[in-house]
Amino acid sequence: MNDTGEVVGRLAPTPSGRMHLGNALSALVAWLSARSSGGSMVLRIEDLDPRARDPEAASLIMGDLAWLGLDWDEGPYFQSERGDLYAGAIARLREQGLTYPCFCTRSELHAATAPHASDGTYVYQGTCRNLTPEEIEERSAGRPPATRLRLPDADDPSAVIRFTDLAYGPRRENIATECGDFLVRRSDGVVAYQLAVVVDDALMGVIQVVRGHDLLGSVARQMHLQRLLGFPTPAYGHVPLLVAPDGRRLSKRDRDLDLGAVRNMVRGPEVVVGRLASAIGLAEEGEELRADELVPRFSWDALRNLPDSIVVGGDFLA
Ligand code: GLU
Repeated sequence: MNDTGEVVGRLAPTPSGRMHLGNALSALVAWLSARSSGGSMVLRIEDLDPRARDPEAASLIMGDLAWLGLDWDEGPYFQSERGDLYAGAIARLREQGLTYPCFCTRSELHAATAPHASDGTYVYQGTCRNLTPEEIEERSAGRPPATRLRLPDADDPSAVIRFTDLAYGPRRENIATECGDFLVRRSDGVVAYQLAVVVDDALMGVIQVVRGHDLLGSVARQMHLQRLLGFPTPAYGHVPLLVAPDGRRLSKRDRDLDLGAVRNMVRGPEVVVGRLASAIGLAEEGEELRADELVPRFSWDALRNLPDSIVVGGDFLA
């Protein structure tokens, strides 16, 4: 919160397809948290990756947010238009001697890495960490390198990141052992999500980040980048991931649960908002209500005992 106690939150959808119910839950809680403090919302379209950019998706997502009753005060900002800001941040890290080129191919990474404990990504083993200038020059003739961030050693106190999630409580991560030197730019030139999100949250004045539980494992990396770049750390609150009955997380492939299908299926947004709110204990079962009617009921205290994921069966909207 800022001096006046008002949250500046954000909605940060990736326009690779239509929103699904899981995205709607994260957006709803982000919005409720900001609005219940009298605060404001920024909308940022996370269209960094040209391969995952569906030209129609951004406007469909904005339409779906509006239909759900979730409005914003600033934006939309498009990450695809902010490349210079990200390049400037990477240059600052490079000037501190903290970046290095990485020539590893995908198959080399798979062969030489250990699975990450929490989010299924891989712990980088430092293959390209100490290349000589000659080796770098030689390899650059082949494929363009990715750019990695050099992390402190595992026994360096700055490798241990601690924070308290608004819903899931105290967390601790050693980024050196649980993550390893991570990418700030891919070999195809696309800026990494971790870097872009840290730059954007800071420059947009975001002081509270609310999103799905799958991104809880990103907080430590983002906090480390904030420290290196001299940015403040926002508050973090995560919300349960919605999963299909077989345990799979909902994704853009679950067309029957995307907002396009959902909007055709239900009488109005009150049904969707009500079901999502009751899934996290903010509404009674079967209650139907608008997002703004939930504002006075919202508090993080009410969200303290949530599971990491919630199963969404075929009868969720029935
Ligand atoms: N763009 C991400 C998504 O749609 C959210 C990233 C974030 O909230 O930090 O899942």
